[in-house]
Amino acid sequence: FLDIRNAKKSYGKLEVLKDISLRVNRGQIVAIIGPSGSGKSTLLRAINDLDPLTAGEVWLEDVQINKKLPHRQYEKHINQVRQNIGMVFQHFNLFPHLSVRENVTLAPKMLKGLSDDEAEELAREQLEKVGMIDRIDYYPSRLSGGQKQRVAIARALAMKPKVMLFDEATSALDPELVEEVNLVMKKLAEEHMTMVIVTHEMGFAESVCDRVLFMDQGVVVEEGPPEKIFRNPDNERTQNFLRKHL
Ligand code: ATP
Ligand code: MG
Repeated sequence: FLDIRNAKKSYGKLEVLKDISLRVNRGQIVAIIGPSGSGKSTLLRAINDLDPLTAGEVWLEDVQINKKLPHRQYEKHINQVRQNIGMVFQHFNLFPHLSVRENVTLAPKMLKGLSDDEAEELAREQLEKVGMIDRIDYYPSRLSGGQKQRVAIARALAMKPKVMLFDEATSALDPELVEEVNLVMKKLAEEHMTMVIVTHEMGFAESVCDRVLFMDQGVVVEEGPPEKIFRNPDNERTQNFLRKHL
């Protein structure tokens, strides 16, 4: 479904990703854990070609995402691709000058040509799902961090993506706000949304993921089901990392 093949990425002499392959089946939820600087964000951003790979291929179903095309064709291709990939980052990137409603309806209207009514219905459905329907007329400045992040998730979902990517979606939040965002992600997991989740929260990863990848220095050191990786990892580097983070 989502297939990363022999991904390599260098910044000058620094090899950030060293031959990483990762397949995510439809409906699967994969967590990526690992120390700071290990390449987790770079890998995630490579999926929608925000950080183009130096070598390797990324496929979503039968489409190669990072294919080389003449500029105009590439722009068209990548815009199409990105409609299928929802992304939520650490820092809520809501448009501050737009209301919650406008934040969520903008892309469906602009990119998919939905009418105001269609977009409104879609937005309501997604805001309902993340528990933010009562804030539909608010501006982001009047929302808490957890609320902003839930709106960001609703906005991504409004494009009906095939995959959702989360890069430490809760790590900028006050502890008491983490849970409300985690609950939304758990709900998506129950609905079998395909997800790749970079997280520092081991407990959360263990409770929602089907598979965990431990990355260090640009390689996947170890991967497996959460009960294996968290309870009984084979690799010494995984053991050391978890000793510090569990
Ligand atoms: P963290 O847990 O801190 O978010 P990470 O695993 O997400 O870390 P990345 O952000 O993927 O790590 O970074 C991996 C490495 O790539 C780091 O050594 C970083 O300094 C380097 N790097 C990232 N972006 C660039 C860039 N634009 N130019 C040069 N080096 C970069
Ligand atoms: Mg990162």
